[in-house]
Amino acid sequence: MSSRITFNIIESESSFLHPRKGFAPFSERFQVRIDPLTGRTGHFSHFGAVKQQKLPFEDYQKPEIKGFCPFCIENREKTTPKFLYEILPEGRKQRNESVLIPNLFPYDVYSGVIIMTDDHVVPLDGLNEKRLNDAFSLGIEFLKLIKGMDQRHPYHVMSWNYMPPSGGGLVHPHQQYFASEYPGNQFMDEINASERYFKRNGSNYWSDLIIKEKEEDCRYIGQVGSSHWIASFVSLGIMGEIMCIFPDVFTIDAFTDEHIEQLVSGLIKVFKYYMSTGVFSFNASLFFGPEHQGYFSSHFRIIPRTFLNTRDFAPDINFFQALLSESISVMLPERLCIEVKEFFRA
Ligand SMILES: [Zn+2]
Repeated sequence: MSSRITFNIIESESSFLHPRKGFAPFSERFQVRIDPLTGRTGHFSHFGAVKQQKLPFEDYQKPEIKGFCPFCIENREKTTPKFLYEILPEGRKQRNESVLIPNLFPYDVYSGVIIMTDDHVVPLDGLNEKRLNDAFSLGIEFLKLIKGMDQRHPYHVMSWNYMPPSGGGLVHPHQQYFASEYPGNQFMDEINASERYFKRNGSNYWSDLIIKEKEEDCRYIGQVGSSHWIASFVSLGIMGEIMCIFPDVFTIDAFTDEHIEQLVSGLIKVFKYYMSTGVFSFNASLFFGPEHQGYFSSHFRIIPRTFLNTRDFAPDINFFQALLSESISVMLPERLCIEVKEFFRA
């Protein structure tokens, strides 16, 4: 069954006369990998070239740098919007520190934001189990509420920019939750390819992928409850990508408190790995497919983000991602797996 998934790696090299080796002939190796689901390619080169840059968390608190933050407690009531009465009669919803509000700059018809903490600056070790559980629970509850009232937006997405290198406009921790007909090209490529795979093979790609990755045993990180954690074969992030698959969850309705606990538990392990390697920023997403299908399992992705340097703040994406729609990574998933696995043993 699992042999229907193939991992194609094109190994190649580029030769030149090296200035730091007395202009002797030199060959630099690189890889192109083909995503087994979508057929999209990703480059792996320049191995080890990117170093995570430390972020000046203390400076983010200084008034001259902090500026105005609408998510800080003293400003929230006046400056954040409220939901229409017919969506959420109480306007906003709170669960411990987490607060659900509409997005002032919505991505879609139903676009919610979770302010995750009272504190403005929260380093990774402050994103603890309680805060994460509250944020995910409230966000998932919002998506379930929307699904119950309007089925014209069949795809559900959580997305998360954490800290400035990720593109986050506010340092104050927050997540975005939206229901959409247009959830983005990555989502649509995946769901269309998953449907084709299902029709061709009569099985769910995501379940098959878990079996295949367990067999290969070089990118499979570990299991937390019913969730499976894998270093993605093709990484969307420059420093590698970790994916978590819930093979038996196909829609937002099926995502229970237990699934949230499993996601949070695995995520805490990933954060511990990130802290050990000096990751200060990331992007993350969580996808849920539409009703009446059994081929697009819910899955979560997380990629570290960094500035290439803090001299001129070069971002870690360039023409490859921005204009060629090609991912590029300096970290091989097999190495990432070995490093992260340590944190999943405990
Ligand atoms: Zn704030």
